[in-house]
Amino acid sequence: MARIAIGGFQHETNTFAPSKADYSAFEAGGGWPGVQYGEPLFGAVEGANIPAAGAIQALRALGHSLVGTAWAAASPSAHVTADAFERICGEMIQRLKSALPVDGVYLDLHGAMVVDTYDDGEGELLRRVREAVGPRVPVVASLDLHANVTRAMFDLVDGLVAYRTYPHVDMAETGARAARLLDQILRTGKRPAGAFHQLDYLTGIPSQCSFIQPCKGIYEELGRLEDKSGAMLSFTPGFPMADFGDCGMAVFGYGAPDAVERLRGVVSDAEKDFAMELHDAPDAVRRAKSRGEAGTPVVLADTQDNPGAGGNGDTTGLLKALIQQQAEEAVLGMLIDSASARRAHEAGQGTTAVFNLGGLSRIPGDAPLAGEFTVERLGDGRFTSTGPMFKGFRMTLGPMAQLRTRAAPGVRVVLASRKCQAADQEMFRHVGVEPRRSRIVALKSSVHFRADFEPIAREVLVVKSPGPALADPAEFKWTKLRKGVRLRPLGPVHA
Ligand SMILES: [Zn+2]
Repeated sequence: MARIAIGGFQHETNTFAPSKADYSAFEAGGGWPGVQYGEPLFGAVEGANIPAAGAIQALRALGHSLVGTAWAAASPSAHVTADAFERICGEMIQRLKSALPVDGVYLDLHGAMVVDTYDDGEGELLRRVREAVGPRVPVVASLDLHANVTRAMFDLVDGLVAYRTYPHVDMAETGARAARLLDQILRTGKRPAGAFHQLDYLTGIPSQCSFIQPCKGIYEELGRLEDKSGAMLSFTPGFPMADFGDCGMAVFGYGAPDAVERLRGVVSDAEKDFAMELHDAPDAVRRAKSRGEAGTPVVLADTQDNPGAGGNGDTTGLLKALIQQQAEEAVLGMLIDSASARRAHEAGQGTTAVFNLGGLSRIPGDAPLAGEFTVERLGDGRFTSTGPMFKGFRMTLGPMAQLRTRAAPGVRVVLASRKCQAADQEMFRHVGVEPRRSRIVALKSSVHFRADFEPIAREVLVVKSPGPALADPAEFKWTKLRKGVRLRPLGPVHA
C-alpha cells in the first residue's frame, strides 16, 4: 500500500477569447465541481465522468491510501489570471508539502493552460510539484485530448496519459489508466522509457472528433500498436487556439519508443484527412429546413461560439438565420445571457416581453438580438446530466428559461446564466424541450454534443458563424507559435 497525493487543475485556454478565468470562474466550475481543497475533493468528483474520479476509484481498489490536495476546473476562456493560478497552485503545493512524505502523486490536468504570467501553465505547475516532492517520487498526470503538451511537461513527470475520445466519454477511464501506470511504477520501482514528439501542423477542433475519420482510425491504430508493443501510448490533437510556442499536436508514450515513432508516422500521414466541410449559417439553416424531421432532427453545431473552446455562448448569428428563414420546430441552446434569464424569471412563465438577447462579448460581426419573446418555461438550472459525456455531472447553471420568438414562432431559444457547452439533452429537457421532437437543434458546441445528440440526429452540420473559437486555426493572428507549423492541414506555414 502506498500513500498517494491527489490533485487537479484543469483549464483550456483560448488566448484569443474575450474573457479570462479569474478565481471566481474556478469557484463556479462551468459545469464541473467548483474548486475543492483537501478531503472534500473526493466527494465532489465521485461518480462523475471526471479523470480524478476514475483515478481515485482505481487507486483505492489497488489498496492505496489517498491524500487530497486541490482540484479545480473552469470553463475554457482566455488566460487564467495570475491571482487564480497562484491561489490554486499555491494551495495545492502547500497541502502537498504538509502531506509529505508521499510515495506518489496523481494529477488531473487539462494540459492547455496559459496563465497571464506563464505560457506553459502546466509546465510551471509540474515544476513546483516536482520541486516539492523531489526527483524520486513518481508523478503521473492524466491529460485532455486537447492538451498542448510541452517538452517541459513531459520531462517533469514519470507519466502522461491522455483521453482517446472526443466527445470525451473516457475521462474517468483515462484517470484510471493513469492510476494503473502510477501503480505499476510503484510496484516495480521502474520507470518505463518515454518518448515524445510534436507534429508540425494544426487542425481545427471540429475535425478532431474520434467518431469520424481520421481520428477514428488513428485511435484504432494506437490501440493496435499498444497491443503489439505493450506500450502505453497517447495522441493529443491539441487545442489550436492557444498562442504560445508549443501549441499543437503531439504523440507520446512509455515502454516502446518505436511504437511512439510509428504513431507519429500515422498522424503525419493523416494530415490531408483532417480537412473538413464547414457551412455558413444561412446555408446550414436552408439544408436543415429541408432535411430535418421531428424524430430525426438536423443538428447544427455553432462551433465558433462553443463555450467549451473559449466562446461565451452569446453570439446570435445562427439564431438570427433560423428566425430570418422562419424555421419550424427549431431550438437553439444554450445561449448564455444571465441578464435575459433573470428578466424572463421576473416577467414570469406565459408572459411576453421585449428582450435583447446575447451579443455580450462584442465579437466582430455579432450584435444582440432584440425582439418580443414569450417565456414558455423557467428552470433553476439545477439538474443532473444523463448523456455519455457529462454523465453524473450535477449542473448548477443559474436561472434558465425557454423563450419563443414572436418574429418566428417556430423558433425557440434556451437561455442559461452560467457558461457550459450544450452537450447534454438534459439542458433542454430542464426547460421543457425534448430535442428529439424538434426538426432543427442548434447547439453551442463543436464536437462534445455528438455523444448525446448524434444518436437522434439525421445529420450534423458544422456551422461557421461569428465567435472567438475559429474553426480554421489559420484565421487566428499567431504571434508566439513556433515557426514552421502549418496553420491548417496542408495550409500556410507560420513564419
Ligand atoms: Zn477537450
